[in-house]
Amino acid sequence: MAKKTEKKKKELQAEKRELAMIEGILEGSPNGIGVVVVRLDCGCRKMAAVAADGEPASKVIMYRDLAESICAKCKEDNGDFMRVIESFIHWVEPAPPEEQKEMIAVKVLGTSPH
Ligand SMILES: [Zn+2]
Repeated sequence: MAKKTEKKKKELQAEKRELAMIEGILEGSPNGIGVVVVRLDCGCRKMAAVAADGEPASKVIMYRDLAESICAKCKEDNGDFMRVIESFIHWVEPAPPEEQKEMIAVKVLGTSPH
């Protein structure tokens, strides 16, 4: 029973380019305590600031790296959740307590971060 099972909790982190977008979103969203980052299978991103109560604190912003606009597919389905490959919340420091994080994550992403 001494088998070492290392439980790797993969914590998703914002990439550099995403961070630039996140900062821009937060600048325009004084109520934002975090930014929801959704990565789509086509490479486009969907982001929106979230307030302390889990309500949106900004409009949903969609963009594509190194492109002037999002891809044709996203234009069509608006980044359908079926095509989401990863989603997480980038918290503004200091991040809220775990309980609140979880409440917001459930509200925003529909899943618990565990
Ligand atoms: Zn796309």
